[in-house]
Amino acid sequence: MGTLFALSVAGPDRDAALRASEKAVEEIARVEALLTTWRSGGPLDSVNTAPPGTPVVLEPELSKLLGEVFAWSDRTDGAFDPTVLPLVRAWDLRGPGRIPDAAALSRALAATGRGRFQFDSGTGRTMRLSADAGIDEGAWGKGYALDRAVSALRRCGVSEALLDLGGQVAAVGRGTVAVADPRDRLRTAVALSVEDESVSTSGNSERGRTVAGRRIGHLLDPRTGQPAPDFGSATAVTTSGLSADVLSTAFFVLGPEKGLELSERLRREGLRNEALFLVVAEGRLRVVASPGIPARLEKEESR
Ligand code: AMP
Ligand code: MG
Repeated sequence: MGTLFALSVAGPDRDAALRASEKAVEEIARVEALLTTWRSGGPLDSVNTAPPGTPVVLEPELSKLLGEVFAWSDRTDGAFDPTVLPLVRAWDLRGPGRIPDAAALSRALAATGRGRFQFDSGTGRTMRLSADAGIDEGAWGKGYALDRAVSALRRCGVSEALLDLGGQVAAVGRGTVAVADPRDRLRTAVALSVEDESVSTSGNSERGRTVAGRRIGHLLDPRTGQPAPDFGSATAVTTSGLSADVLSTAFFVLGPEKGLELSERLRREGLRNEALFLVVAEGRLRVVASPGIPARLEKEESR
């Protein structure tokens, strides 16, 4: 996943805690092998490289996961879209970055979208319909890996742990999660108290590219094909790693106003979630957040 995994487990029995930690690390590695499209030959990569019109049958775990991820694309009105790989390639976000010409951009847009895949979650039969179509795991793979690692810990009887996978955190029991200042990632802007939840932040501070003097964010709006406007960062707090990962990406693409609307709509539909936007304007930081955030703020450093 090109990132670091940090794990702390608390418990009365050192050997048991160490064994549990090892299981969690093994789960992260297993999920990486399942989902990576950076190395060739993995199950998800085989979907992306199969000739258009040729079905690939996914194993049950991946089929169920892909079904959930596609459903999230619908629930976010396409702000989160796992089929964004053609656009990721057009902007060369896995390389040094590139500004695509109009023809390349419209080709990539045409190859993006749920409709570019035929997928049957019952049988796992998955088929690309165009040669450019592909699935990108960047916005949801880490969240799913965290969920599997948390399950592994719980199976081992762990009731207190904090897992940090490249900045996305999951807490088993209670914990405190720092959200970085988008202007300076080494500084904590706010700290949130959580319990059996995951916190994911999306922003461009680390992973943007600069091409010909233009800053290109790595978060794309699949509806326009353009990098989403950079306002700062978007954080999602919710009950699973997968949904937190999906939602922070969707919240960033939607921006604070539409993002808060989505957060509220999902709460009405029964998904416990909170949204936190750190908005940089004229060098200052403004906090825009859903109603449940203030009660969770542990520290708000002077801005
Ligand atoms: P995250 O840091 O979780 O917000 O994920 C960002 C990564 O997901 C990017 O580096 C791309 O690989 C991919 N991506 C970019 N835009 C989107 C989008 N709108 N929906 C889904 N994946 C995206
Ligand atoms: Mg994400």
